[in-house]
Amino acid sequence: MTEKDPRNKTSPLIFERSQPGRRGTAVPEPDVQARPLDQLLPASALRVTPPALPEVPEHDVVRHFTEISLKNHHVDRGFYPLGSCTMKYNPKVNEMTARLPGLVDLHPFQPVSAVQGALKLMWELGEMLNEVSGMDAISLQPAAGAQGEFVGALLFRAYHTAKGDPRKKIIIPDSAHGTNPATVIMAGYEVVTLGSNAEGRMDPAALEAALGDDVAGLMLTNPNTLGKFESEIETIAELVHDAGGLLYMDGANLNALMGITRPGDLGYDIVHINLHKTFSTPHGGGGPGAGPVAVKEQLAPFLPLPILMQNEDGSYALDWERPTSIGKVHGFWGNFGVLVRAYTYMRMLGEGGIAETAKAAVLNNAYVSARLGDTYELPYGRGLHESVFSGAFLKQHGVRTLDVAKRLLDFGIHAPTVYFPLIVAEAIMCEPTETETKQELDRFCDAMLQIAEEAAKDPEFVQGAPYTTPVRRLDEARANRQPDVRFRAD
Ligand SMILES: *Cc1c(COP(=O)(O)O)cnc(C)c1O
Repeated sequence: MTEKDPRNKTSPLIFERSQPGRRGTAVPEPDVQARPLDQLLPASALRVTPPALPEVPEHDVVRHFTEISLKNHHVDRGFYPLGSCTMKYNPKVNEMTARLPGLVDLHPFQPVSAVQGALKLMWELGEMLNEVSGMDAISLQPAAGAQGEFVGALLFRAYHTAKGDPRKKIIIPDSAHGTNPATVIMAGYEVVTLGSNAEGRMDPAALEAALGDDVAGLMLTNPNTLGKFESEIETIAELVHDAGGLLYMDGANLNALMGITRPGDLGYDIVHINLHKTFSTPHGGGGPGAGPVAVKEQLAPFLPLPILMQNEDGSYALDWERPTSIGKVHGFWGNFGVLVRAYTYMRMLGEGGIAETAKAAVLNNAYVSARLGDTYELPYGRGLHESVFSGAFLKQHGVRTLDVAKRLLDFGIHAPTVYFPLIVAEAIMCEPTETETKQELDRFCDAMLQIAEEAAKDPEFVQGAPYTTPVRRLDEARANRQPDVRFRAD
């Protein structure tokens, strides 16, 4: 990068753009009599000094955030094959409906009679998710997959406690997402980790040996984090249920199954659904998501409060009278804007479209796996919607998976998930999703193959990547702990 390279430019902070008195809005004079603040609030609640907010016109705000957005990678800028995260394109029609005044201007303190349309939307979304998951009842409240898991673990506890048989342990396979063991521990259970077999699946015999009357249940993603469908799932469900346990599906990988088969039909009792993955609401920026939890009938009495109900006359109500409920898990009713987006997406696709989406996600992954599989190893073979490659063959050149990930950034492509799942050495977990074209998949595969060639010919070049990004290689831990939001080239 040269001195003159425009990427060298440091972006001012929005506070540095501030000039006293600049405004983005002009509010008309009120037509009611103004009252001084100190008549409305006690002195202790009033600020002494005004807040230090930037004073900028609207176009400065827009330019500032547009510029920052170009320094980052996001799904509106380019391909984002981050495995397990389902970074599909988020259709803009979702944004249009989420901004409809009748939805966006609602206040959660409005009486139930005044928000019947919003409740209807939530009810219908719940019905659609129950249909896709094969479950009987649902809570839309959890804000993310991890919180859905936590709610699931609390449901395990409530269910077993109600039967007078509180249990201690939850079984998780060694390929599981890190949130699974974290959730189980947070909920006060012990984790029992089970190894995967040579195909990357759960071995029913090993499961049987681990089950016992102190086991509350099993948490099992399907397809699992290697992208492999747990083909013994019916046997697994039977074993868990015979031991008095419950079967939880981490539903983050529903994109591979929806419209094709249903967790409820496979024997699962509980599933969380990541609306921000499978159902195309934005994610990756730390903003709101939604991880609804759907359950079979016998777990419905324990679902979080309030429960959305339909009255006999077709109107909707919120039921707070559930003495066995695990209680409230989110402010108000969940992240409503996310629910509107997911609702829009599902209605837009329709039943047939939902199945088509899953098939296209699997097909796209099969294509990428076929093109890359001869160069990058697939220790557990091709997965359904995602495959886990190994970059271990590059070690002979001194190149690591991390270097491949960094070099990909120079092609305008986000790196796949790397070093996860832990059971694959130098893992490269790639999930292309259904929204990419063959041309884009080819561009990605060409880049991956080119990087493998570069690694053999000029390993130092790959080790030095990226070359074209606003910042080069960061000390990632320090960047998280001491973020420097000013962009400088090094
Ligand atoms: C993303 C993911 C989670 C966690 O979901 P969040 O919404 O990020 O909390 C859990 N399990 C799997 C397999 C995932 O991919």
